[in-house]
Amino acid sequence: MSKIAAVKAYPIVAKLKNVQWTAQESRAEVDLLLVEVVTDDGIKGYGQVTSTPMPDIKKWVERFGEEVIGMDALARVAVWEKLLSMTSPRPNLGGLSRGARPQIMGAIGGIDMALWDIAGKKANLPIFRLLGAENKPVFTYATGGYYVKGTKITSCADELAGFVKNGFKAVKLKVGGATMVEEVERVKATRAAIGPDIKLKLDLNAAYDLPACYEFAKAVAPYDIFWLEEPLHWYLQPVDFGKLAAATAIPLAHGEREMTRFTARDYMTLGGVRYMMFDATRYAGFTESLRVAHMADQAGVMITPHHSPELHCHLVAAFPRTGYAVESHGSHDRDPIWQGMYLDRAEVKDSYVYMNEKPGWGIELDWKFINSHLAGY
Ligand SMILES: [Mg+2]
Repeated sequence: MSKIAAVKAYPIVAKLKNVQWTAQESRAEVDLLLVEVVTDDGIKGYGQVTSTPMPDIKKWVERFGEEVIGMDALARVAVWEKLLSMTSPRPNLGGLSRGARPQIMGAIGGIDMALWDIAGKKANLPIFRLLGAENKPVFTYATGGYYVKGTKITSCADELAGFVKNGFKAVKLKVGGATMVEEVERVKATRAAIGPDIKLKLDLNAAYDLPACYEFAKAVAPYDIFWLEEPLHWYLQPVDFGKLAAATAIPLAHGEREMTRFTARDYMTLGGVRYMMFDATRYAGFTESLRVAHMADQAGVMITPHHSPELHCHLVAAFPRTGYAVESHGSHDRDPIWQGMYLDRAEVKDSYVYMNEKPGWGIELDWKFINSHLAGY
């Protein structure tokens, strides 16, 4: 048995060339919390958290580290359940702060992912092999079309056509940040630039209420849209998604902002969501992602995690029927951490992710890069 001996968190930050906007928010830099779990027999496992605010998540990782020291490092489900149980009322102890739930779910996820890495390293197997998957290329698409101040509204068309030139067979355009008329222009120009054979997804970043989204879905339908992602405002519920799904033939994608399998379930069963994007690096880790994926598979919903193709490929590979794709960045400038923090990882090439046979996540970290990009907290 390997016991958990130490838990450490490394906050990494890197500046972007331009301030980039989605419909929801702007970004001048990217950050990532690397979680390291060390066992008493010297195995180091790594997990990642990409939610916010990072300094708070780091504190929760450290706090939870004290809770799990001495636990069986292979018993990741027991660790997960213990940490989650702390968020609900306990006799004479109470539950952890209600206001900190998103950061807590992020921290649980980081530790959980590090334990999966340890499980792979202990068994000397990649995680996709622990799940019984074959080593086959996993489909991936490229995301772009972020808003940059001072650029032409339709510059996204050339940008996404560039991704296609680089080998991507499917692309995703950020929408919802300009007026409806301008957005239809952007979609039209992008479809014209990429041609009729490339799949075009739209990511709305929660831009609309129901009436506006009915209008938007109708306006973009002529441009052969593969999915509408995160279409509705953050406070709208599965029942609202269900109404949207009934009103448009364009499939809905959702899940990156969900924190547990219970809300993910409701979007799939009541919300008409046909592409599930639950993100292990944002909330609740790979253990919960796997539960969500099994539920999706059963519900006839396609599995397509948000972000981190080098990690989520292990999940998609394990569902040959309903595993659809992972998300990649179209531009190298979009995430300097992703470009810089690895010496080795699954390779993204010609719209596919090629996994290696290294144990755990199959990643090798570049500590020179990480140490030179540590945040000061
Ligand atoms: Mg999205």
